[in-house]
Amino acid sequence: MKAIEACVVGSGPSGFFAADALLRTVPDVRVDILDRLPTPYGLVRGGVAPDHQGTKNIARQFERLCQHPSVRFLGNVGLGRDVGYDELKDFYHLVVLALGAPVDRKLGVPGEDLPGVYGSGAFVGWYNGQPDHRDLAPLLDRPAVAIVGNGNVAIDVARVLAKTPEEMAGSDLCRHAGEVIAAAPLTDIYVIGRRGAAQASFTPAELGELGRLRRADPKVDPRDVAAPHPADTAAAKKNREILRGFAQQGPAGKPLTLHFVFHAAPQAILGRERVEGILLAHSGPKVEAGAVADNAFELAVGAVVTCIGYRAAAVPGLPFDPARGVVRNVDGQVEPGVCVVGWSKRGPSGTIPTNRADSFAVIERAAGSIGEPLTAKPGGRALDRLLSERSVRAVTFGDWLRIDEREKAAAPAGRPREKLTRTAELLAAAIGDQ
Ligand code: NAP
Repeated sequence: MKAIEACVVGSGPSGFFAADALLRTVPDVRVDILDRLPTPYGLVRGGVAPDHQGTKNIARQFERLCQHPSVRFLGNVGLGRDVGYDELKDFYHLVVLALGAPVDRKLGVPGEDLPGVYGSGAFVGWYNGQPDHRDLAPLLDRPAVAIVGNGNVAIDVARVLAKTPEEMAGSDLCRHAGEVIAAAPLTDIYVIGRRGAAQASFTPAELGELGRLRRADPKVDPRDVAAPHPADTAAAKKNREILRGFAQQGPAGKPLTLHFVFHAAPQAILGRERVEGILLAHSGPKVEAGAVADNAFELAVGAVVTCIGYRAAAVPGLPFDPARGVVRNVDGQVEPGVCVVGWSKRGPSGTIPTNRADSFAVIERAAGSIGEPLTAKPGGRALDRLLSERSVRAVTFGDWLRIDEREKAAAPAGRPREKLTRTAELLAAAIGDQ
């Protein structure tokens, strides 16, 4: 029996879990894990909040996988940029797409293109040193910022903006972003939900953290968290308790207020040259109960960060569902020899453990249909030849370890690393003058 040649495109958690599943379920498999960036680990490096270092420990498991004799990491190799979709299908028996969802969803309201409006993918990428967004230079020069969305990403953004530099000690917040945030004259952060507290998708642990910030008081209108609803989920009940606690605790006179604004749907971003405010419309129970007289209101803010979800990026030749913003698939199957996992399969929902279960289920189905391959495929040898013809220098796992060492050596005291944030710097650290 010949070896099965498999390729995983994308080295975030769902990609690594797919590689792990392949090694466990397919005998004699060789796995190449590709990433368009010179660095591995996807959102573990570029998305998970810099002050949630515990969540990043999963990278150790991925590091071990990269040392498996049948696995190669090939960074700096972009699908649709350096290698085509059809080429990968020719080279490998199985192509697993783990492309993530890197494109910010749009609000679809007037003013969205003004300077000062940022999607969370770009904003989080900026403070996490993701090369695509390193030079975002967000306008954090006014006292107030609006964060649209009631999910955990909105909470991450609010917390990173609200924490003091001392509270970020021990994080890997990039220096360029830490300096801008520390210098921002922030007094008000508005976290805006278009629905009510019971419909928010924050998880209680993340929400609770916002009540323990050194320089920020949470502020909640008690009417938004009044009576529990029988249909509340367990998480919604806990969130309501936490928010009621915030409403009761009252301001402690801290310099920054973190306002929770519920039932407020964005209508427009206001401003001529840049963001000056956001226009919202009250909706839902408050309006129905006559608790608000006029259902439109403005907040004066200098920047808006939309944390409203993401879409996968279309790649030439790849079946794509433009309505859902995912790779077109049925239970992860795209076409014979191709499957898709993670956010590029399901859309942007779920945490790292959700993606593990999802990748394992997809690979189990795909492995069942590979059987004994009828034709030998050249696998990584063909990819290496093609990359060399195109003068693409892939970043190997050994190269990544050089980047890793360099970043750790550059870390200020008490911090895990100071990231290299530009592709050229990363490549220079990885491969030097070779
Ligand atoms: P999310 O939980 O789906 O939240 C998206 C939010 O955007 C929702 O509140 C949604 O409101 C709102 N929204 C969507 N379109 C909108 C519009 N046009 N106008 C106003 N609001 C709009 O997604 P996320 O926060 O991006 O997080 C993605 C996934 O990563 C989640 O599963 C999350 O739990 C996970 N994550 C976990 C952590 C952690 O564990 N610490 C950290 C970050 C992310 P509706 O509900 O009304 O649609």
